[in-house]
Amino acid sequence: MSTKARRPRAFVLTVGDELLLGDRADTNAPWIAAFLSAAGFAVEGVATVGDDTGRIGEALSWALKRVRAGVVIMTGGLGPTTDDVSREAVAEWLGVPLLEDPAIRAGLEAHFRARGFDRLPVTNLRLTQVPAGAEVLPNGSGTAPGLLVPLPARRKGDAGVLVMLPGVPTEMKALMRDEVAPRLRAHFGDPVDPVPSRILRTAGIPESALAEQLEPLVRGTPGILVQYRPSWDGVELRVSAAAGAPALDQFLADADGVLRPWTYGGEGASLASAVLSRLATLGWTLGVAESCTGGLLGARLTAVPGSSATFLGGVISYANEVKTSMLGVPAVTLQAEGAVSEPVARSMAEGAARAAEASVGVAITGVAGPGGGSPHRPVGTVWFGLVSPATGTVAERVQFPGGRDEIRHRAAQHALRLIYQAAEKGLNDEGSGSIGSGS
Ligand code: ATP
Repeated sequence: MSTKARRPRAFVLTVGDELLLGDRADTNAPWIAAFLSAAGFAVEGVATVGDDTGRIGEALSWALKRVRAGVVIMTGGLGPTTDDVSREAVAEWLGVPLLEDPAIRAGLEAHFRARGFDRLPVTNLRLTQVPAGAEVLPNGSGTAPGLLVPLPARRKGDAGVLVMLPGVPTEMKALMRDEVAPRLRAHFGDPVDPVPSRILRTAGIPESALAEQLEPLVRGTPGILVQYRPSWDGVELRVSAAAGAPALDQFLADADGVLRPWTYGGEGASLASAVLSRLATLGWTLGVAESCTGGLLGARLTAVPGSSATFLGGVISYANEVKTSMLGVPAVTLQAEGAVSEPVARSMAEGAARAAEASVGVAITGVAGPGGGSPHRPVGTVWFGLVSPATGTVAERVQFPGGRDEIRHRAAQHALRLIYQAAEKGLNDEGSGSIGSGS
């Protein structure tokens, strides 16, 4: 039986016209979904509706069907203005009156007195209204408290809850952690262990190629789910195992041969950081030469705290003259081969290492578009050069998809990936005693 069946169910409902208009991205729903999943709930659905009592009621009916005796968390529309209608909507949907809560009123009066008002602004009276039967959840950082309301029982013994929280993300999060989580634990008991999962970040391999290699393993291991999340940085994998942690470990061990060449870390890992730590282990330093990326690679490297120990600097050699004057790329090579070419990429990499007096040099020269492409070198063509103690001087041509931003971003990421591979090779060579083993 799937472990999901034993988990209390949850539904997330975010309310706000601004979310439907696209004026504001809904950050509450994913945060709450992650919070609930980690707390052992099975999140059955997420929905967003506008500030409209009818729509909110319809969404709550749908949510109740999904969660039965579980929890519905709803955010937004709890403010003092007349476009905030969540209180009215919930009272109407439950068929209960809105009643004034004297403690909320007293708290608001004290709040406004402390800010120099002699009386409570009348619009704020709306904040004192709660659906009959609601428990008030104090909001330490805003004026609208959260509310916890019993859900209508669909069957005898059903006892679900509806939690209403303000839309402001910081207030919502504080209420979830401080007020809601302990009540959910009291109501639903200790959480069932969440389905174990692992995030793995990969670079340099497309989603389809990864899937082709992983899917036979996935099919052979019951209960394993692999989600592929591609971006310009590479493909992030989320691997989960309904059968539990040993099944997850077994699958990851089986998939190691497929994943190892492409994986550089887990959740939140940065390729630049992984590169720098490997270079530091080897005692190698790095210099870069960038043409079409115009400093993006340097920015990625210097975003990592402590990078100066390893990343020495670079040259933004956009014009051919600078490739020659600062990196020593022969003018005749530029003329004969073009700036986006293998010999120029190699020469730029060697020049970068020389200029920075670094052990590793990497170079990027390409056509980021939208103009400048040709049949031989269409937009998206990028040549990379690399020189390192483990590889000598090497070069690679890649054809990137997308527009200018995407090509430049992917090129910087690819350069990091090349340095990473060279460093991995350096570490393996050291391990096998072929260089610098000293023994
Ligand atoms: P308040 O008492 O502050 O008015 P409220 O419950 O009425 O709280 P809203 O008025 O709906 O909340 O939203 C307050 C702020 O929070 C707005 O800036 C809104 O855009 C933002 N917000 C609301 N819902 C979300 C959401 N789901 N994700 C991100 N931001 C949100």
